[in-house]
Amino acid sequence: MNLIKYLTTKGVKIPDHKEMTRDLNVVNIKTPKHLYYSMDMHIGKPAKPVVAVGDSVKIGSLLGKNQGGISANIHSSVSGKVISIDEDGGFRGKCELITVENDYKDEKVKLKDLGDDISIEEFTKRLQEAGITGKGGAGFPTHIKYEMEKHEAEYLLINGAECEPYSTSDHRCMVEYADEIVKITNLIMKIYQVDETYIAVENQMPESKRALNQAIKKSHSKSIKVYELPSIYPQGHAALQIDKVLGIETKEKQRSGDVGVLQSNVSTIKAIHDAVFNNETFFRRIITVTGPMIKTPKNVMARIGTEVAHLVEECGGFYDGERINITGGPMMGKSFGNLSLSVDKDTTTLLFLKRHSKTEEKACIRCARCIDHCPVSLQPILISSAYRTREYDLGITLKSESCINCGICSYICPSKINLLDDIQNLNKELEGKDDDQ
Ligand code: SF4
Ligand code: SF4
Repeated sequence: MNLIKYLTTKGVKIPDHKEMTRDLNVVNIKTPKHLYYSMDMHIGKPAKPVVAVGDSVKIGSLLGKNQGGISANIHSSVSGKVISIDEDGGFRGKCELITVENDYKDEKVKLKDLGDDISIEEFTKRLQEAGITGKGGAGFPTHIKYEMEKHEAEYLLINGAECEPYSTSDHRCMVEYADEIVKITNLIMKIYQVDETYIAVENQMPESKRALNQAIKKSHSKSIKVYELPSIYPQGHAALQIDKVLGIETKEKQRSGDVGVLQSNVSTIKAIHDAVFNNETFFRRIITVTGPMIKTPKNVMARIGTEVAHLVEECGGFYDGERINITGGPMMGKSFGNLSLSVDKDTTTLLFLKRHSKTEEKACIRCARCIDHCPVSLQPILISSAYRTREYDLGITLKSESCINCGICSYICPSKINLLDDIQNLNKELEGKDDDQ
């Protein structure tokens, strides 16, 4: 099945609400006294604790070691002492949780200097040592992606099209770290012998385009180009972006590497820069703290392991009223209740919205809007019905598993049917069935 044949230019124009934080510089915030590191910050196997209670650690000390296969290292983001290792909750669920008490000395351990001439093996080893994972829901370990794609890369495609409403962390990363992004891009191109790189940005964010173009000019690179995409949700989807920017078709279940494209998010590229040029592990990241319920929205540089409650305090606290807390954007993000959860490597945005009284779901009026707007040309209403009537085989026939979880169908439905929930539940059931076999 050819994905691009049915991967269309569909999508929706949605209010972006980025004005709340788009022009705000990234600010450093006070580091908290205690930091909490879930060993489950990425897809695949959780990291295995390699410290004990009472151990002294520094910024960059290994706390959890990757367990081989799809797994990633986790490092301390402060200097201090390990005070507990318990089973507790993170954004991905229950897992071992290491608590470090900050001594506020900010002592660091650095990775070894790599020198000038870096091989693919040295490069991917560095990504692994530094514990870099891709941003976005899955948190795929970056070293594996770059190992898998080492023989096939023709293009480097950097995703700076931050299509989720409210989120501006990638935008600020490009505005404030354009030189670093271009510097590491030039090196990756050299290591992988890639001739062309495109950095995809949304056309409503001229400041990031300007900053990147200036940095490219300064570096005298002729092979890196900024590519403007229309501000239509979901421009950030990998296959959609490869098609739009490079005109390359991706077949269903193919990865970007299978079609000769090395693809990374812009914040991941910045983390790679810090690992390669500054010999740093992945211990902090830009997070947008925003939404109508937070008093002072900000883009903050937060240490991994910082409690959400601490970030809320640093942003002036909440307005009174019922609230819904979301990690990620409103379309694909996940709601959470507990403010004592801690930010992890793929926390891009903490969004606090006003909770409106629940709109009653009405009967489907067969308007077909969900079908017309699905970017991968599924029939959401039929898949939802298949789930509700437990006709799982019909769900498979309707290609439920091709859903990219963009949420457009639920967003656009005039009857307020939560189609995405049904589709996700159906896919979970189907996964469970596979596991039973
Ligand atoms: S959530 Fe899935 S089914 Fe709904 S519009 Fe997006 S891709 Fe299509
Ligand atoms: S958008 Fe909603 S009302 Fe319209 S066909 Fe789809 S499920 Fe039915």
